[in-house]
Amino acid sequence: MTDAIFDAPQDIAILGGGPIGLATAILLARHGFAPLVFDARPLEAARSDRRLLALSRGSWQVLQPLLGEHLPRTAAIIDVHVSSAGEFGVTHLQARDIDARADGAGEPLGVTVYYGDLLTALSSAAQAQPALRLRRPVQVTRVNQRFDTVDLELCGADGARSTSSASLAIHAEGAPQSGGDSAEPVRDWALICDVQLSGPAGGSAFERFTRDGPLALLPAPTHDGPRWSLVWCMDEATVQRRGALGDAAFRAELQQAVGPRIARVEACTPRRAVPLPQQARASIAEQRVVWIGNAAQTLHPVAGQGLNLGLRDALTLVDCLVKSRADIPAALAHYRRRRNADRRLMRGVTRLMPPLFASRALPVALARSLGLTAMDLLPPLRRQWARLLMFGLRD
Ligand SMILES: Cc1cc2nc3c(=O)[nH]c(=O)nc-3n(C[C@H](O)[C@H](O)[C@H](O)COP(=O)(O)OP(=O)(O)OC[C@H]3O[C@@H](n4cnc5c(N)ncnc54)[C@H](O)[C@@H]3O)c2cc1C
Repeated sequence: MTDAIFDAPQDIAILGGGPIGLATAILLARHGFAPLVFDARPLEAARSDRRLLALSRGSWQVLQPLLGEHLPRTAAIIDVHVSSAGEFGVTHLQARDIDARADGAGEPLGVTVYYGDLLTALSSAAQAQPALRLRRPVQVTRVNQRFDTVDLELCGADGARSTSSASLAIHAEGAPQSGGDSAEPVRDWALICDVQLSGPAGGSAFERFTRDGPLALLPAPTHDGPRWSLVWCMDEATVQRRGALGDAAFRAELQQAVGPRIARVEACTPRRAVPLPQQARASIAEQRVVWIGNAAQTLHPVAGQGLNLGLRDALTLVDCLVKSRADIPAALAHYRRRRNADRRLMRGVTRLMPPLFASRALPVALARSLGLTAMDLLPPLRRQWARLLMFGLRD
């Protein structure tokens, strides 16, 4: 059966209604396009994802106007404390360093938001756009590129098959399933849970490099006192061992990794182990098909950059489409060129950091301690680094 959904020549199909697919759809609708989003998951399943995301200031500046009145609950990140377990170097990124405002009361470095809350807010904002259509649960099972259209094969929740076509297909379906063309074998895992700490002020985030892997503690958006969300990266064997520990034994290992001077670990919620697939497509645009967000590149969460980078993909793609509206292949060629440097840099940084900080070699250990100390002592260096994390590499 053919489902004749598209009636205008510039209709755009978006495969995946995760945060990047939905943000792109809203941006497109606001520029006069008629996006149609397909997502394989029911909204309730997406809503229950309690992964805490750190959104950079740049990302939040983009998202806020898209969300309008549908703002999710967020927590401000006021400072980020970066250190390496058992070593002397430490650096502090603070909002007031970056803005260099006379009163020192700049905007936060970013905010945190639960994935499910962000998705709920984006879905509500999408529904408020008359030109945007969202169909879920509908899985796109195949994409066939023709000369001037793209044909899609679809499968509904009841197993009903249909087809559709569009002028452009945007892949925003997240990391490829393992075994897919560009998927790499999963080596890294993370343990995730909420943690109660005593010591640090609300709004403080921590990035701590341990021998097993990096650990992040992000301030969580709560209404019942400060809480932090833990993402502790490690290999599969360690994630299994730590996942099976009793509560007190796990808290003791976490306390040792966090260090007594940073905070006291008071309590933890049940842990969840999540795989951390990583991949990057060699080509992110072909004729009438384009990849954005995790579908284009899936990063290690070490610096909390995946969604931030994906939003910059979305912004650039929409800008290219708006500027060369009648010529989709030309728009995609621009998109590919403009995203090259930012993607390469963020992928390089997130691939390099975990092994660099895990190395036990003395010269490497000394170099990283000196690096963190230099960053702490040199405000211009710190400002450059923070601006990169907040706004990416501008094209
Ligand atoms: C533990 C962890 C912590 C993280 N922390 C941060 C952070 O602090 N900051 C940050 O910026 N990033 C962070 N990230 C990364 C961030 O979660 C991702 O970059 C972001 O979710 C990517 O969004 P997306 O929309 O591209 O893909 P996804 O969120 O994966 O959404 C893809 C959507 O596509 C749908 N879909 C899949 N296949 C199909 C199909 N065939 N047909 C139709 N629909 C389909 C799925 O149902 C899903 O809804 C973290 C990731 C992890 C795992």
